[in-house]
Amino acid sequence: MESFNPCLDCGICCTHFRISFYWGESDEAPGGFVPAALTEKLTPFRSCMKGSNDVPRRCIALQGVVGEQVACSIYEHRPTPCREFPVYFDNGRPNPKCDELRAGIGLPPLPDPHPMGCGLA
Ligand code: SF4
Ligand code: SF4
Repeated sequence: MESFNPCLDCGICCTHFRISFYWGESDEAPGGFVPAALTEKLTPFRSCMKGSNDVPRRCIALQGVVGEQVACSIYEHRPTPCREFPVYFDNGRPNPKCDELRAGIGLPPLPDPHPMGCGLA
């Protein structure tokens, strides 16, 4: 079965949000997993992905051309906010914030519902 991943030609969310998280997710902390070299400290307790606190905003881990072909260079080690931003909800409906961001760069809305059923995003 072919997979369906609309993020691979999008990536706009990685240039839109400040990607901040509890600093203990960075690998400078025991049990952390996000490469610390790609993060910057916001407060004693919070860090963010480098580039995501700048204008123009673009996470340092994003590779490729937004709206054409992209990849996250630390996908297996990305922080919690990236893991928790859904493309689709469990009911198979698309995240309206994705469609809003995609429209801003001329990408079509996400198929509604998910073309492969529920919970497969
Ligand atoms: S905005 Fe939505 S569709 Fe685009 S890359 Fe982010 S999660 Fe994927
Ligand atoms: S860590 Fe990866 S998924 Fe998260 S904002 Fe950066 S490029 Fe996007």
